Amino acid sequence: MNKGKAYIIGAGPGDFELLTLKAKRVIENADCIIYDRLISPNILDLPKSTAELIYLGKENTEGGLIQDEINQTLVKKCLEGKNVARVKGGDPFVFGRGGEEIDALVENGISFEVIPGITSSISVPAYAGIPVTHRGLARSFHVFTGHTMENGKWHNFENIAKLEGTLVFLMGVKNLDLIVSDLIKNGKSSKTPVAIIEKGATRKQRVSVGTLENILKIAEKNKVKSPAITIIGEVVNLRETFSWFEPKESSKKILITRDKKQAKEMSKLVLNKGGIPIELPFIEIEELKISTENLKKYSAILFNSPNGVKSFFKNIEDMRILANIKIGAVGAKTKEVLESLKIVPDFMPEEYMVDRLAEEVVKFTNRNNNILIVTSDISPADLDKYNSLYERNYEKIVAYNTKKIKVAKDEINEKFEDIDIITFLSSSTVEAFYESINGDLKVLENKKIASIGPMTSETLRKYGIKVDYEAKKYTAEGLLDVIF
Ligand code: SAH
Repeated sequence: MNKGKAYIIGAGPGDFELLTLKAKRVIENADCIIYDRLISPNILDLPKSTAELIYLGKENTEGGLIQDEINQTLVKKCLEGKNVARVKGGDPFVFGRGGEEIDALVENGISFEVIPGITSSISVPAYAGIPVTHRGLARSFHVFTGHTMENGKWHNFENIAKLEGTLVFLMGVKNLDLIVSDLIKNGKSSKTPVAIIEKGATRKQRVSVGTLENILKIAEKNKVKSPAITIIGEVVNLRETFSWFEPKESSKKILITRDKKQAKEMSKLVLNKGGIPIELPFIEIEELKISTENLKKYSAILFNSPNGVKSFFKNIEDMRILANIKIGAVGAKTKEVLESLKIVPDFMPEEYMVDRLAEEVVKFTNRNNNILIVTSDISPADLDKYNSLYERNYEKIVAYNTKKIKVAKDEINEKFEDIDIITFLSSSTVEAFYESINGDLKVLENKKIASIGPMTSETLRKYGIKVDYEAKKYTAEGLLDVIF
């Protein structure tokens, strides 16, 4: 079997959008993702659905145990023929142990690429409004680990205290007292400004500012926790003018439950609104092959969902086959997708219901005409009823299946932990969700529920779930408009 390739990838600090384009492309194509806890959770929405996701990497483990496990897993997966994205916070070579992983790969004859990332050592200060160098203030910056070595050996602080540039300590929370006292002991002015930035570039970023003299007290009072960057030097004072990033602890975290492909589009909309999207699909759309041979016999074709349009038109080779066929659609989004294909629907009922669509087509057709309804496997179209009510010959074609996904309880609990609002864009997602949680609504405590429209709201209420937001316009955009 051919060996897979390994990609040692830096994902940047907390802000998802600081991922490089190259990293994004590789992660999207990888067969296996091995990641640590410093990366933005949004990155895990990128891999293809078949990719294996492996979480390995407690922060700050020194014993080397976890690292051995990472190396072995990386090698093993590549030997299985998988292309593996090893994704880590910041840059892989800045205290990222990327080199050790490469050693293991080389030993096993596995080829690899390194994709550098934006290291937290410069970007986290930047998010706190602190430039690591500045004309007239700092002509160099120096990055240290705040850990002592296994044998207890420590940096040479006699030399460090003499440096005129900015000092940056990663992993410096535990030994802050040592860092501060060794600097002062070796002659650094106790008035030197210090900032500690926790969870930089995330909505939980917090900055504590002081001087070498008082920073210990401040850190203690604020209960400063890892991951944090400690930055020491005059540049810290620039923060007063340069501070720009407002961590929005209040920015809404939105859970997106729809099909993976559509979730991507919705995530972008959420980001544009200033929210944080988390994807957890509960349904999967499976597009079906359909025969288009007999389409000419229909006087009208009715679409009741954007997915129906997309799947149907993938089967059409020559659009002229539809000439002279009336087209009806329900839903603003269905219309939008049709129009992107240069088809303007002839009619659209006010109400978003396939029944109304079947009724309205009467005006555009004659008795005994053939009418085709393009639907999903779970669509409620009642052909017999329409046939007898409207004296036409209704037929339906299933253009896609809506498959429920059974999401593991653990995954639900983990993703729901931080979520503010859960969005449902169809009744089938509500059903799939309800089945996944086995009817145990406890996960919804303190969460708000958003529904795309009356039908989905009705399904939610049927299961005892209260609806906090309902869209006025029944599209993803419409739903976000009522949330934000
Ligand atoms: N390779 C990473 C660093 C790994 S060491 C990089 O280049 O950024 C882990 C340390 O990085 C943490 O203990 C902390 O000091 C720092 N760190 C990483 N991400 C951070 C963030 N978002 N906010 C604050 N510190 C961070």
